[in-house]
Amino acid sequence: MPQTLFEKIWHEHVIVTRDDGNSLLYVDRHLIHDLHFRAFAQLKAAGHSIREPEKLFGVPDHSLPTTAKLLADIPAGEMREAVEVLEQASKEFNFTHFSMTDDRHGIVHVIGPEQGITQPGLLLVCGDSHTSTHGAFGCIALGIGSTEVQHVLATQTLWQRQPKSMRITITGELGFGVTAKDIILAVIREIGTAGGTGYAIEYAGPVIEALSMEGRMTVCNMTIEAGSRCGLIAPDEKTIAYVEGRPYAPKGGEWDKAVTYWQALRSDGDAVFDKEIVIDGRTIAPMVTWGNSPQWALPVTDVVPDPASEPDASVRATMSAAIDYMDIEPGQPLSDIAVDMVFIGSCTNSRIEDLRAAAEVVKGRKAAVRTLVVPGSGLVKKQAEAEGLDQVFIDAGMEWREPGCSMCLAVNGETLGAGQRSASTSNRNFRGRQGVGSRTHLVSPAMAAAAAVTGHFTDVRKFTEDA
Ligand code: SF4
Repeated sequence: MPQTLFEKIWHEHVIVTRDDGNSLLYVDRHLIHDLHFRAFAQLKAAGHSIREPEKLFGVPDHSLPTTAKLLADIPAGEMREAVEVLEQASKEFNFTHFSMTDDRHGIVHVIGPEQGITQPGLLLVCGDSHTSTHGAFGCIALGIGSTEVQHVLATQTLWQRQPKSMRITITGELGFGVTAKDIILAVIREIGTAGGTGYAIEYAGPVIEALSMEGRMTVCNMTIEAGSRCGLIAPDEKTIAYVEGRPYAPKGGEWDKAVTYWQALRSDGDAVFDKEIVIDGRTIAPMVTWGNSPQWALPVTDVVPDPASEPDASVRATMSAAIDYMDIEPGQPLSDIAVDMVFIGSCTNSRIEDLRAAAEVVKGRKAAVRTLVVPGSGLVKKQAEAEGLDQVFIDAGMEWREPGCSMCLAVNGETLGAGQRSASTSNRNFRGRQGVGSRTHLVSPAMAAAAAVTGHFTDVRKFTEDA
């Protein structure tokens, strides 16, 4: 029977399926970050240990202030406790931990692929919704809740119901200055934040195939913002080349066997998806979100929509409330909206390619507003510094920080003030996401850099000779 890529990997991991349709799945990799530091005490209290510690990888990211290099630099309190307890647990339970003084540390969804922990065909979980990022490698990557984290720690398995399948095909090619972030914002705009609920989404088509692995991670990362817990892309030669030689990638004969398996990991030609969406890549422009939902995105050349033209009363009311909260006006050109701060970072857009794209726009210019540039890992930071990107940002008057989640979630003191507005390369723009009363607009790294040097949203295509 023809199968989708998701179905093939799913069936490889099913141990048993109950009458109610839920399946017990074997988990190949479990990533854990500092916000789950209480899991270990709870595990012990329940009389359990970690079933397969060699498949567990821990890293602090959410609680790290990006000015901190040492534990002592973190203010005393829960943030420091989270970082400390995770490290202690790694010693007690004997699992791999990338401490904050290790160059390999960073945002959990950046370091998994970077270390070769993320591989095609695996079932990978993490107690974090943006685990969908790892699906870029052609694996099933699921964000799980705290109770499920406990279950995986104790059993290396997870109960799940098989989702339906959706394929989103991006045809044609991207226009100049359009990036992976613009693709996923255009997808979410098209299907809505609930459009993917209950589905695993496979991204396909020539535009997806042409993306780098970094770009594919950006697309899969924001799958969760479309309501789906799992986005994935069939592995190809780019995927294999990315994984090869990384510390946790298979070696020798195991590598050859793995590659043979990975090359067969694709949806069968006659596989049937429960839903198919097709978007022409040529219609996608550099995007900006205007409201408090990732689906409220428009090309930067557009204007704030008028709720009066919306026929559905409840949507009209939500749009009006968002316009009010964001302090913008219907009909206002998006490029007229001034920002107070710019954030370039997060698991969506903090990889080397993202920093290169931002630096290309910033080079030779000065920041008009405060700008934080936060690399996704210590290794990304080192690479950026070797390429002189840090100096480009510093010369522009921007802040070059240590790796971490930073202003994406803003739990570590790196926040917007009430009423302040950001251009942010992160993934969520809910009310107060970057601080109480904060206003977040989601954009690509190049668009964030353009906003940083002009002080307002600007079509990044104006910054290049080719435009
Ligand atoms: S960068 Fe943001 S979305 Fe990503 S793991 Fe950290 S807090 Fe979550």
